[in-house]
Amino acid sequence: MKPAPFEYTAARSVAEAVAALARGGEEAKVLAGGQSLVPMLNMRLARPSLLVDINRARELDYIREADGAVRIGATTRQRAFERWASSQLPLAAEALSRVGHTAIRNRGTVVGSLVHADPASELPAVLLCLDGSVVARSEQGERVIPAGDLYVAPLTTALRPGELAVEARLTLPPAGAGWGFAEVARRHGDFALVGSIAVVSLDQSGRVVRARVGFFGVGATPARGSAAEAALMGQTPTPTLIKDAARAAAAALRPDADIHATADYRRRVAAVLAERTLIAALARCGRAA
Ligand SMILES: Cc1cc2nc3c(=O)[nH]c(=O)nc-3n(C[C@H](O)[C@H](O)[C@H](O)COP(=O)(O)OP(=O)(O)OC[C@H]3O[C@@H](n4cnc5c(N)ncnc54)[C@H](O)[C@@H]3O)c2cc1C
Repeated sequence: MKPAPFEYTAARSVAEAVAALARGGEEAKVLAGGQSLVPMLNMRLARPSLLVDINRARELDYIREADGAVRIGATTRQRAFERWASSQLPLAAEALSRVGHTAIRNRGTVVGSLVHADPASELPAVLLCLDGSVVARSEQGERVIPAGDLYVAPLTTALRPGELAVEARLTLPPAGAGWGFAEVARRHGDFALVGSIAVVSLDQSGRVVRARVGFFGVGATPARGSAAEAALMGQTPTPTLIKDAARAAAAALRPDADIHATADYRRRVAAVLAERTLIAALARCGRAA
């Protein structure tokens, strides 16, 4: 199938992109890496009347680390960030290694994946677990949308018509924090059936002082495992505590059934993966990344 007709404009700057988006209103869509949008156009699942291509806006191609956070511009390719993250943020590198295949990551953008908001995507759950945010720019100005407020429904974010996501921000885990990542997919590179992330910090006496547990593929949006985080805080982790915490977090999930897996399967696997990611995170605590 071929896309429905649309107007196309190649913005050379954020200002040009934002002006074009204001002109197009609800009928306009941003074209970043095109790895999700172009198939949707071809299948006529998306029928924008205006495409605003941001690939020539060079000011959006950057990875900047400052004040304990990393900022990623909207045209930064997933593969470029994966390379940076392999030494600086191994959790993100591990998550990115599961996003499709290298050819897709060479073109797909980090910000595009975050705002495309596929519930089975890896990066939105990373954004949640690293207390991240997305910066949105429009003709009305700029606002920062925390990850917890960004995800509204499948393929739907809090971004408004006319807004361009210009940057993603991830808080770097504190020194000595441990991380774990696990997903179940039919084949390497497929979207996850179920996935889990954990980031944990311990104090000198081995008690949990910070815990983030996240899930993807198990509901309409990525989710934090707040029950597990609360159960672990201030405790010295034992195998029983970890198992119970993981189960409590999974019990709060509301996964959907589809042709790939039942809701019950997803919830059970989520408990197992959360336990594994917590064990991996705790094993890494105190070690250099
Ligand atoms: C075969 C295949 C396998 C894949 N497997 C996975 C996988 O396992 N995991 C995974 O997470 N992803 C997977 N993907 C999707 C891939 O990661 C995409 O790159 C990503 O979802 C979208 O990024 P993009 O830059 O290509 O965005 P585009 O396709 O250009 O845009 C996607 C959507 O986001 C909007 N958008 C993009 N950038 C902005 C912006 N700056 N501001 C406002 N709106 C914006 C667009 O308007 C569009 O609605 C796969 C894709 C393919 C083709």
